[in-house]
Amino acid sequence: MFATFALISSSCTTVNVAGKASPEYVGVDPRAEAILKKYLSLSIENNIHFSNKVTIGFKHINRGSVVGQCSWNPSFREIDIDINYWNYSTYTSKMSLLFHELSHCYCKRRHDHGNNPGHFEDGCPTSLMCPTTIEDDCMRAHYDEYSKELFDRCQPW
Ligand SMILES: [Zn+2]
Repeated sequence: MFATFALISSSCTTVNVAGKASPEYVGVDPRAEAILKKYLSLSIENNIHFSNKVTIGFKHINRGSVVGQCSWNPSFREIDIDINYWNYSTYTSKMSLLFHELSHCYCKRRHDHGNNPGHFEDGCPTSLMCPTTIEDDCMRAHYDEYSKELFDRCQPW
């Protein structure tokens, strides 16, 4: 199956478009490495082990407010991060964006609102897999819950 899941910063629409026929990148862009490393160590803490590697690169996505996307292909999985969004984001926002895309690509997670009722008492979503980017305050307040929930229903790649 070829599919792309995109994270949108301003609306709640899930976007699926035709995926890529071949990867655009080799390996992982150095700018994404530290956060990737963190994600992979969280996966191990949650007893999830991946056999394959996702490639990650930066570009101008140019699809409205889409700031990140994961392409699935039978032979590779690849993340695009929007370069403008990245350059103007805090470290916390970069981390929530990459964790979201990594969970699409490594865990085959789709967009959802996590466990019932979908929001914490403070209004923050219960999962980073919600279809829109989350507030940095939510990431700071619920980092521990998010970094565990991402590996629920993970189908390791
Ligand atoms: Zn997404």
